[in-house]
Amino acid sequence: MIQITMPLGFLGTVYREIRQALVDMGEMFDLLHQPAEIEDKPGAPALKVTGGEVCFDAVKFAYHPDRPILKGISLTVAAGQRVALVGPSGSGKSTIGRLLFRFYDVTGGAIRIDGQDLRDVTQQSLHDAIGVVPQDTVLFNDTIRYNIAYGRAGATEAEIVAAARAAKIHDFVMSLPEGYETAVGERGLKLSGGEKQRVGIARTLLKNPPILLLDEATSALDTQTERDIQDSLNAMGEGRTVITIAHRLSTIADADRIVVLEKGKIVEEGTHEALLAHGGRYAAMWARQSSEDGETEASAA
Ligand code: ADP
Ligand code: MG
Repeated sequence: MIQITMPLGFLGTVYREIRQALVDMGEMFDLLHQPAEIEDKPGAPALKVTGGEVCFDAVKFAYHPDRPILKGISLTVAAGQRVALVGPSGSGKSTIGRLLFRFYDVTGGAIRIDGQDLRDVTQQSLHDAIGVVPQDTVLFNDTIRYNIAYGRAGATEAEIVAAARAAKIHDFVMSLPEGYETAVGERGLKLSGGEKQRVGIARTLLKNPPILLLDEATSALDTQTERDIQDSLNAMGEGRTVITIAHRLSTIADADRIVVLEKGKIVEEGTHEALLAHGGRYAAMWARQSSEDGETEASAA
């Protein structure tokens, strides 16, 4: 993707942008704090995704040996299933996402995709299999075309447009005088939060990964935009295994399974209805968020 004829100064800029993009995935990946390099085993084969089953098998993890973070997480997400992780801040949700990406190795147990231990396959093939839609899609200082095509090197024009259509950003792009050639980012057109997220969705659709890791937006989008985006995210999840790190419970109530984490352990799991009926932690979180949403809407009215 980076042409070798570019002057070195430009390479520096690209590097900074890529690093910034990774940094801005922020909350989930915390790359600034990333410790030891993870290396492929010699001769490791590529991951072969057959259905996209993700299995956390008694996973233990600590960033520092004296402070266990995940204390035995067992969780199987069947191929094509949608599972949401919820729980208080610091309970380990983002850590689970980082481990699935193998930014760190587990300190106990194993994580497997379609039966293959993440430590036995190449990281490249692992990263190719998982699509991430972060809370805040970072745009490169380049054209809209480049920003979408970044999802997959070598994508054709027709594929880029199809992804943009599916992400419901195509009509917006065509309304711009320069269309897909419009420069965006810091030095170009500033896109709204919702438009940026649609570019992120288009990028991920182009990549077409069998497994999706969604770090749900907590943020800046108004309610209607958020609902629209949620529809696009749900559509993108069709036929894929989806793990959502959720902040707003209202958006994951229809997940196949909701997993409640607390202090690095699974304390409850089930469907929304089953968890409400159970009257435990999830039910309490739901009651609290419902009353907060009520207040917000009341005060906005
Ligand atoms: P959540 O996403 O549920 O809010 P995290 O997985 O981000 O929780 O964090 C779980 C725990 O791990 C927290 O106590 C947090 O302080 C700690 N933690 C997260 N990242 C690091 C890190 N890079 N180094 C050390 N501790 C970390
Ligand atoms: Mg988190």
